[in-house]
Amino acid sequence: MRVQPKHPKSPQSMLLPVYYFLIFSSNSRKPPLHSPSMAFIVLLFLVLSPFSLFTAGATTAAYPSVTETSSCSLRNDDLIPIRREVYDNGRIFDISHRYVNDMPTWTSTEGLGQFLWLPASIKNGSLANNSEMKLPAHTGTHVDAPGHVFDHYFDAGFDVDTLDLEVLNGPALLVDVPREKNITADVMKSLDIPKGVRRVLFRTLNTDRRLMFKKEFDTSYVGFMKDGAKWLVENTDIKLVGIDYLSVAAYADLIPSHLVFLESREIILVEGLKLDDVPAGIYSVHCLPLRLLGSEGSPIRCILIK
Ligand SMILES: [Zn+2]
Repeated sequence: MRVQPKHPKSPQSMLLPVYYFLIFSSNSRKPPLHSPSMAFIVLLFLVLSPFSLFTAGATTAAYPSVTETSSCSLRNDDLIPIRREVYDNGRIFDISHRYVNDMPTWTSTEGLGQFLWLPASIKNGSLANNSEMKLPAHTGTHVDAPGHVFDHYFDAGFDVDTLDLEVLNGPALLVDVPREKNITADVMKSLDIPKGVRRVLFRTLNTDRRLMFKKEFDTSYVGFMKDGAKWLVENTDIKLVGIDYLSVAAYADLIPSHLVFLESREIILVEGLKLDDVPAGIYSVHCLPLRLLGSEGSPIRCILIK
């Protein structure tokens, strides 16, 4: 299936010299991390904290958590939360996908399904609402650690807790890749990404096809072929590779491309990014995985700041 390109390559590539100048001239050691990371930590705390003192009453799930349309059971029409993709008048883009039952998961036709329960609820007599969740570590917008495809790295403990936050945070380039094919060595060459650029988010046909919004897993997604991955490793300084579907590697080269990227343990792969409606160009990227000891994957919250 082919869809008309939504982000033609030419206007953006004309601006690339400007972007590169900005990358080279900016100081990658000073990411303005404070507010996004705090918000993320607070959010995680709310979702994950056991609140064990408060949960004595109920042990079964009586109420679903927030449904995908947010205003379901609210009694007061004024109490309708705002859900945003962009913050601060277009300065901050949320490039993480919202976790919903209908999001795609690897090779499934049914989507993620229920992943969140409310075993303790105020309605059931508990002092607080206290959700629990269960989902594959590689669901939605997520990160891969070296242990994902190298068992000796997995055994040695190269999990998501060992990933370098400096690589995951700093100046980044969002580029549109040619829409007709997978990311091969020729495609990488044509993108003309110079030395010095360390973080690149690749927007592909996957975004145009809105694959991350379809619950059926689609093997025809676009990703890196082995030669494209090899070209990137050998000819660029890219250490953060981001892509807009569940795998950076094309389905036909699934394991070979992952092996090429992860062998050195220097490159971090962020998959399932939400890159629609964000202009191509230079940003500060901020990605924070969970500190899941022993896990080769983790949900990750990523934002771009102009
Ligand atoms: Zn993954």
